[in-house]
Amino acid sequence: LSTAADTAATRRPASGDRPEERVKVFVRVRPPKAEGETQGALRIKPDGRGVVVYREHATIPSSDFEFDRVLGPSASQSDVYHAAVKPIVEDVLNGYNGTLMAYGQTGAGKTYSLSSIAADAIGMIPRAAAEIFSHIEQDKVHEYTVYMSYVQLYMELIQDLLRPESENLQIRENEGGVFVGGVHQQEVSNITQCLHLLHLGDRNRTTAFTALNAHSSRSHAVVMLTVIKRRSVAGNGDAEIQRVKVGKLFLVDLAGSERLKKSKSTGLRASEAKSINLSLTTLGMCINARADPNATHVPFRDSKLTRLLQDSLGGNAKTSLLVAACDAHEHVEETLQSLSFGQRAMCVRIQAVVNERVDYRTLHAEMVAALETKDRKSSL
Ligand code: ADP
Ligand code: MG
Repeated sequence: LSTAADTAATRRPASGDRPEERVKVFVRVRPPKAEGETQGALRIKPDGRGVVVYREHATIPSSDFEFDRVLGPSASQSDVYHAAVKPIVEDVLNGYNGTLMAYGQTGAGKTYSLSSIAADAIGMIPRAAAEIFSHIEQDKVHEYTVYMSYVQLYMELIQDLLRPESENLQIRENEGGVFVGGVHQQEVSNITQCLHLLHLGDRNRTTAFTALNAHSSRSHAVVMLTVIKRRSVAGNGDAEIQRVKVGKLFLVDLAGSERLKKSKSTGLRASEAKSINLSLTTLGMCINARADPNATHVPFRDSKLTRLLQDSLGGNAKTSLLVAACDAHEHVEETLQSLSFGQRAMCVRIQAVVNERVDYRTLHAEMVAALETKDRKSSL
């Protein structure tokens, strides 16, 4: 009663889905470094949505952008969380897919924003996990199971950061969507366990894979939290078929968006530079295609990253993009590139649906309970 049918997921548009939503884009400008940077390249408009870029000594702005919100150097992790992540976590708890991607050049603040565990600056990943468990604790009506996976994509290889011996995982697809075949999925039941796995993954990221020259700025790190929510069986006597909702949250720390040149300093061969850039380049092409109403083809299949994020980029996920930027004239070209990327992502429409299916496990338990009641009655 449980096996094959159990995976026969149905995806139904939820009532109350707004017909037209789009990817939300947030820009975070990090505080200046102590030395070596000339500030003044960015001006955030008073509405907190516009940002203007000035090249050094220029009196006329180079470009003018508008986003869902621009968070300045004084914005806290909590500010970023409430703007960009909290709404997504709430949706994931209700069976939607959710994605947060951090984009920007190396040093702009992606990892700080996502993964910091400093007591006064806890990042988006621990915050999201904490919120999931606090919600679960308060919800007395549903039963939850949460799984965590943590992978790295480098040179088109998917490496399991929780099982570093698995360094060439493949992407697969079934009725429930795209997933990493054979990836370790650790059941987690509290924030402490999540933090432990994050720490383990980060340690593996910097140690186990250095032989492959997988410097973290050149690889993409993806934390996946799967939240399975089912109605509690206990005390439920009605004959209604129970359903299970599966929400997947992807938290993606992308590789540095700066152009990798094959130079003596990076020691890269041309083929390596190309392979390292492939996923990020393809991400840009997918965003462009998805932003263009006339585009007929989205090249998801051209890279591992875009394949993995196919649901997120294809529209079946509540997606936030966090563009990390710095207000330094030295980096103005990279910053312009990052903001342009974010601007295009503003046009990507989404139509996420609740991933819901009949909960055969619960249904089975209810049938057994009903039969037992019948047996008792008939034996009286
Ligand atoms: P990236 O992951 O984009 O390469 P990091 O997150 O490692 O960049 O940030 C580079 C440096 O800047 C780190 O030392 C980090 O602690 C610091 N930093 C980044 N953003 C902030 C911020 N909003 N507030 C304080 N420090 C920051
Ligand atoms: Mg980083």
